[in-house]
Amino acid sequence: MKRSSFHIVPLPTEIADAARKTAKTGARDHAVITVDSPESSPCRHCLQWAKPGERVVLFPYTAIPSGQPYCETGPIFVHADGCKPYGATNEYPTDFRSGRVFRAYDSNYNIIDAQVVDGSEPEVVIENLFQNPETAFVDVRSVTRGCFTFRVQRA
Ligand SMILES: [Zn+2]
Repeated sequence: MKRSSFHIVPLPTEIADAARKTAKTGARDHAVITVDSPESSPCRHCLQWAKPGERVVLFPYTAIPSGQPYCETGPIFVHADGCKPYGATNEYPTDFRSGRVFRAYDSNYNIIDAQVVDGSEPEVVIENLFQNPETAFVDVRSVTRGCFTFRVQRA
C-alpha cells in the first residue's frame, strides 16, 4: 500500500475536554445542543458527523492564532459526552469527502492557495497543495459555512 503523504490532525483531546468542561459551567459561548439532523454537526475530535439525538458543544476555536492578518476564530462542534480522537491519521476522514474547501498556509500562517473539493479526490487535492514547498499545512473547512473542520500536515 502506498504511504500517504499527509497526516490528519484532529482537534486535540485537551481542547475538546476543556470545551466540555466549560460548557458544564453554563458559559454563554459554549452552547450544548442536541443534534436534530444528520450531517449538520461535524465533531472535530472524532472527525465524524454527530448523529441526531447526540449532544454537541458549540464553541469558538482559534484555528489561526492572533497576531497575523489571517488570524481566525470560528465556531466548531465536539461531541458533548466524550468520543475517541480520530485515529486513522494517514487516511482522509470518510465523512468529509465532499463539501470542503482546502486552504494551504505557509509557515507564517499566510493563505497561499485554496481549492474546493467538488467531486475530485481529496487526497489528490492535498497532494497537489503539498507539492508547493511553501505549503506548511492545509486547513479543511466547510465550503458552505466556512467553519474549520481539521488540519492536514505533511507526513
Ligand atoms: Zn466526536
